[in-house]
Amino acid sequence: MQDPRTQYSMDNKRSNPEQPDPGLDTILKPQADHGENSYQGCNRLAGRKALITGGDSGIGRAVAIAFAREGADVIINYLPDEEKDGKETLKQLEGCDGKSWAIVGDISQQDFCQDLIKQSVDKMGSIDILVNNAGKQIFVEELEELSSEQFCQTYATNVFAMFWLTKAAVPHMPPGASIINSTSIQSYQPSAGLLDYASTKGAITSFTKSLAKMLINKGIRVNGVAPGPIWTPLQQSGGQPAEKLDHFGEHVPMGRPGQPAELAPTYVYLASQESSYVTAEIMGVTGGAHLP
Ligand code: NAD
Ligand code: MG
Repeated sequence: MQDPRTQYSMDNKRSNPEQPDPGLDTILKPQADHGENSYQGCNRLAGRKALITGGDSGIGRAVAIAFAREGADVIINYLPDEEKDGKETLKQLEGCDGKSWAIVGDISQQDFCQDLIKQSVDKMGSIDILVNNAGKQIFVEELEELSSEQFCQTYATNVFAMFWLTKAAVPHMPPGASIINSTSIQSYQPSAGLLDYASTKGAITSFTKSLAKMLINKGIRVNGVAPGPIWTPLQQSGGQPAEKLDHFGEHVPMGRPGQPAELAPTYVYLASQESSYVTAEIMGVTGGAHLP
């Protein structure tokens, strides 16, 4: 047993250095915890086939480690510039019961989304768990500085890709399969400066609930996870203004940012049969900042 407030210590020099987009866990300071040395599986996902977008780093890496240790086959997707992080995640998956692969490419392109599903089915035979986790977040203070290009790219990455991937994957998902979408507390408590990002997360929350009602006829459950402030490269690579990084996450009741490792068990729960009666749900992991 441990006091959660002091479970992780963060120093106050966190923007060191600010990273280009996409950010890398490899050079994140301080380093994040993805459960590398702590997550213990017990066959909750034995034999299941999982595709995780943004599985190279942050929350996606923690989910990949947990799924693999629970016995799943795992494919991670990420961008070409994230090869270092992708390789490190794959290294963490070695030695687990299931197999693991990386399929690299840009999910803001419809053709690639379809190809990613095709390649995943070729490798694994089916998709039992689809984790739509990849996301783009670039903080822009003023409306006049928010470009059309950024607005469209954030929607393509966060929302359109989720539609393209889901539509292509569902024919390969058997009854009992699970779709898990990474939404955000920003869906409910949108910040100024995250106009494009926060509104994509609002869309993801509604998409998740609507899709759940559509797909239960096929025996597929659909849920979302809404993280609060989590210490990942997304925040250091434009997701937050530099001056906010040193105190990132201190405003929530827990008084600190969460670590990716603290998210993984919720994804495992939603992927496994343990959550058989749970669909159209959004589960918050926020350090006490409540969803409505
Ligand atoms: P992260 O940077 O580690 O992960 C985001 C991933 O998205 C990247 O690793 C990258 O591989 C992927 N990605 C971005 N654009 C892509 C593209 N065009 N094609 C393919 N992949 C692309 O950061 P994270 O915080 O772990 O983010 C994971 C999810 O969690 C995101 O959806 C994010 O919005 C959500 N989230 C994060 C926080 C937080 O505080 N970190 C809070 C709420 C929600
Ligand atoms: Mg990454």
